[in-house]
Amino acid sequence: MPSIKQPDIDLRSDTVTRPSPAMRDAMLTARVGDDVYGDDPSVNALQDTAAAMLGKQAGLFLPSGTQSNLSAVLAHCERGDEYIIGDQFHIYRHEAGGTAVLGGTYPFVIPVTNGLVQVADIQAAIKPDDAHYPRSRLLCMENTVSGQAIAVTDLQAPAQTARAAGLKVHLDGARFFNAVVATGTRPQDMADVADTVSVCLSKGLGAPVGSVLVGDRATIARAHRIRKMLGGGLRQAGILAAAGLYALQHHVDRLADDHRRAASLSAALNQLETLWLQPVWVQTNMVFITPQPGLSDALFAHLEKCGIELGKAAPTKRLVIHLDIDDDKLSRVIESFQLFHKGQV
Ligand SMILES: *Cc1c(COP(=O)(O)O)cnc(C)c1O
Repeated sequence: MPSIKQPDIDLRSDTVTRPSPAMRDAMLTARVGDDVYGDDPSVNALQDTAAAMLGKQAGLFLPSGTQSNLSAVLAHCERGDEYIIGDQFHIYRHEAGGTAVLGGTYPFVIPVTNGLVQVADIQAAIKPDDAHYPRSRLLCMENTVSGQAIAVTDLQAPAQTARAAGLKVHLDGARFFNAVVATGTRPQDMADVADTVSVCLSKGLGAPVGSVLVGDRATIARAHRIRKMLGGGLRQAGILAAAGLYALQHHVDRLADDHRRAASLSAALNQLETLWLQPVWVQTNMVFITPQPGLSDALFAHLEKCGIELGKAAPTKRLVIHLDIDDDKLSRVIESFQLFHKGQV
């Protein structure tokens, strides 16, 4: 009987990381206050640091990326206003329709090609000032998109199209720093395409909780009120903000290690050609596999026995590399696939 091991290599997402000892130490020693009064020094330091890194006036710490995106959209749009968004994007697909349910805003959906919305579609979507139409107020973009890092030069034309018509631009940068590191762009140059940017601290950056929204002072002040309305006012939040601050100071450059490991995983898996229905591909820290249908159940059972946990998506699965996957664990992942492959030939 093979021993039933607890999975110790979790490739479901980069959200599964545990705070490192140094990050826990930063949390333990964080100076705190009551952030609802605005006097938690660690929250203020995180907000100011994030704003400075992205070249914006102000920042706001929020419990999640979903609340950050929702607060941003509602800071830009009144009830009955419209935001234009790609049909693949998280705000439209994966945030429980919050912008419509809680904000009375109207998403106008346009196609996404290669992670990008197209200028012609944006132009066609923007409504004239006419009683028949909602008011077009905002364009929402995303980076990275399913792990794909979009070059800042590719975001500029859609952003300029929206701005020329008087719309604001929000960038859902849940994995903003993966995009910045992968494309070799300065964070402020990437952020410059948008009026507001939301960044998750709890994904590749390795903090336990939280996102930060940055933008101009007036917009962030409106988002602050909306955060309160959504129940997102936290008191001694500095314990969490200290982890986020530590992540911004120590875990940005190392995202390149995740990308390097994902690339080498992808290359190694592509050697095992007979396992795949289509070639394995890689985007920043994510590797995508589509096993031959006849093999997938046996492959996933084998990986589980090897202590490797994968997400439930099918037929294409995402293997996500993160802070808690070092070179040793990566080798174990590769060896586990190789072992399975050997049994097949
Ligand atoms: C994860 C994610 C979010 C939401 O973040 P949560 O903290 O899970 O609410 C938003 N947008 C994108 C693109 C994401 O990947």
